[in-house]
Order: sequence, then C-alpha cells, then structure tokens
Amino acid sequence: EEEKHKYIKGKKLGEGTYANVYLGHLRSDPSKLVAIKKIKVQKEYTEGMAPDAIRELKHLQEISHPNIISLLSVFSSKDQNLNLVLEFLPLGDLEMLIKDVEGVRYGAADIKAWMGMLTRAIWFCHENFILHRDIKPNNLLIAADGEVKLADFGLARSFSDPYRIMTSNVITRWYRPPELLFGAKHYSGAVDIWSVGLVFAELVIRTPYIAGDTEVGQVNLICQAVGTPTEENWPGVSKLPEYTVPDPPVAVRDRNYYLGTFGTAGQEGVDLLMKMLILDPRKRITAREALEHKWWAADPKPTKKQDLPKKG
Ligand code: ADP
Repeated sequence: EEEKHKYIKGKKLGEGTYANVYLGHLRSDPSKLVAIKKIKVQKEYTEGMAPDAIRELKHLQEISHPNIISLLSVFSSKDQNLNLVLEFLPLGDLEMLIKDVEGVRYGAADIKAWMGMLTRAIWFCHENFILHRDIKPNNLLIAADGEVKLADFGLARSFSDPYRIMTSNVITRWYRPPELLFGAKHYSGAVDIWSVGLVFAELVIRTPYIAGDTEVGQVNLICQAVGTPTEENWPGVSKLPEYTVPDPPVAVRDRNYYLGTFGTAGQEGVDLLMKMLILDPRKRITAREALEHKWWAADPKPTKKQDLPKKG
C-alpha cells in the first residue's frame, strides 16, 4: 500500500451523491495538484467490496485519452473507503455551461466541438471494452485548455449495488436508455450512445430533453419524445423483464419532428441525433459509425478547443 502515501489530502472541494472530493497534491511535488475522490460506501457493502472495486478500477488507470479524465491512483483507506486520485479539473462541467443561459452563449460550432470530444471519448472506451453507463453533462469536466473530459468512468458499474439502495431517486435516470429501463440483463455500448444522444439534445435546447421523475415516468416520456418501443420497431422488446408502455403507442418520431426541436443543429446534426436515439439498441449508431458521420465535416466546422466558451 504505497499509493496512499504518495499524495497529501487537502481541503474539501465538494460533495457529490456518493463521494466527497478533496484537493490534494503529490507528496514529492506540492505543485502537482490532484483531486482525491473518497467514495462513500455503505457499511453492509464494504466487506470485501473495496478490493474488488480496486481491481476493476486498476485497468482504468491504464487507459489514456485526451477526453477521458486520468485516474492516477486508486487505494483504500483504513476506514475501507475507496479513494480515487484524479486529474484536477477545477473549471466545472458541461452542465454548468448549459444551465448558465444568461452568462454563457454558445452555438452550433461549439456544440459540434464538445460532441466531437465526447464521441471520441466514448469510442475509445468502447474500443477498450469499457462501458461508462453514466454519461451526463455533469460528468463532462472542462480542462483549462478547453478540452472536455469524461469523468466517473466505470464507477457506475463498480458501485451499482451499493448506490441503488442509497435512495434511488438521487441517481439521475434522464440519460438511461430504454433497454436498461426495461431491465435488460445483456447490453452493449449502445447504452452509452443513447446517453450521448441525450447530451447532444440537451446542448441544443439547454434543458434536459427527457426528464422523468420516476422510472415509469421516464419510459412514458421516451415514448412521447422518441416513440413507443414495440415488437415492430424493436423485435424482442416485449420479452424484456420490465417492459410496460402506455397505451396507445406513439409512432416513432420522424425527421420533421426532430427538425422542429433541434433544427439549429442542422440537417446533418439532426440525422446523427436521430441515429443515436434509435430505440432498438442493435440498430442504434455505434461510436465508430458516429465518428464517420457527415455532420463533423459539414459547416460550421467545430470550434477550436481554445476558443470554446467558458464559465465567466
Ligand atoms: P457530482 O457528480 O454530484 O458533482 P462528484 O462527487 O463528482 O459529485 O464531485 C463533487 C464536486 O467535487 C464537484 O461538483 C466538483 O466541484 C468537485 N470535483 C469533482 N471532481 C473533480 C476534479 N477532478 N477536479 C476538481 N474538482 C472536482
């Protein structure tokens, strides 16, 4: 257990749903700042869980990409808590920019730049057989050079059990794909693509697109916004364990419907969004296909990262 002695923990930076985050620095070089995220794990689950979670997180330390937050170290402290040492990114997240409608102006070229960074991050993860499962604007942190970095990687998986019982209504379900809401046991990278599509939608309209306040409510809103999943558009869906949809079914929304709401993303942007929000996960666009989409090359070109809007 060398790792925990390499860093010195400083003041508390913030408190999240399932973690406290502290400023820290390298013992050997106090100018090297880090964020130390101390995960709150429920007592009943701590027994033997930390070693498992650590093993699972270890491989995340080995992946390196400009749009994925660096996990510098993982260790458990004497109270069995799990500590993640992360790249220090103090400039906030995409949710802060989206919400600050008065203070932060951005346009189609900026959205294209942010979406490019997010799509490359997800492509890289999927190439490395890692699913994120909790993509949302608040997990997209902003670096000083304008780079957007996907955070909270792999946590959704390692901690799915403990935090389910920590009041399920604090965990946002707005970005959850229909296959997970229907209780699918086998799923793929398509779960992340759905969330990426909803981040795209939210960047355009500056408010969460499908914001249900219960799981049933979320399914109902998906049916309204995207269309009702049926055997016709998604063979096998009715056999999923928690499949229930409201009557009567809503036809899958067409291009004109999307253009009406997301027209500022342009024809090609709307085309990509629609492909990310295909109900049947097998038909949904993959990260690799998304990177080959015509939208990226269409006008306007993505904003250079150093010119992207920042929180004032
Ligand atoms: P939440 O996702 O609910 O915001 P987190 O546990 O991810 O909770 O983070 C809590 C707070 O800690 C954040 O709002 C942010 O202010 C801060 N924080 C998290 N990660 C970092 C980081 N890598 N660098 C700097 N600050 C961070």
